[in-house]
Amino acid sequence: MRIVFIGPPGAGTGTQAERLVKTYGMAHLSTGDMLRAARDAKTEVGLKADQYMSAGELVPDDIIVAIIAKRLQQDDCRNGYLLDGFPRTIAQAEALDKMLAERGTPLDVVLELQVPEEELFRRLAGRGRADDSPKIIRQRLVAYREQTEPLLKYYSRRDSLRSIDGLGAINDIFDRAKAVLDLLAG
Ligand code: AMP
Repeated sequence: MRIVFIGPPGAGTGTQAERLVKTYGMAHLSTGDMLRAARDAKTEVGLKADQYMSAGELVPDDIIVAIIAKRLQQDDCRNGYLLDGFPRTIAQAEALDKMLAERGTPLDVVLELQVPEEELFRRLAGRGRADDSPKIIRQRLVAYREQTEPLLKYYSRRDSLRSIDGLGAINDIFDRAKAVLDLLAG
């Protein structure tokens, strides 16, 4: 299966993504993890990306699209993958569409994890990562609302979108995600 997993910062997509890839045996493509690894390795791309990440802003589309284009060519993506944190803008979604059309490998589903904004702020403030000061948290939520949320309409127009409730116990949320994917897998 080829899946895009969308959710605001703090919704828990990372946690759920890890469980889903273990269950279904697909590659886990987290652009946040890739960027953090590049930043820690102090590569040119990593250092450039860090300027945006530490401000709670999105990294420019050309950087992230180049990373994903390369990653999708690796062998482990042949049996499906879960994109966690990509695409985050309409331009990225269009670039992804183009790559997938060229390969003849369309997405199976776009899964959205829904969590109300007050709850996100509460969760993020309690998590204590370096990029989680209140000001940065607010900026990340703004980036989601303004740049990523329009993707929901983009994908629902072509009937690719399935939304699940991201509130409650981790196991219950996982069961909701699994129900959607099992239905698709038939
Ligand atoms: P995440 O762990 O997915 O929340 O990503 C951490 C940070 O990496 C984000 O706040 C962005 O600065 C950057 N980032 C991750 N994925 C993307 C993307 N698809 N487009 C732009 N920036 C991204």
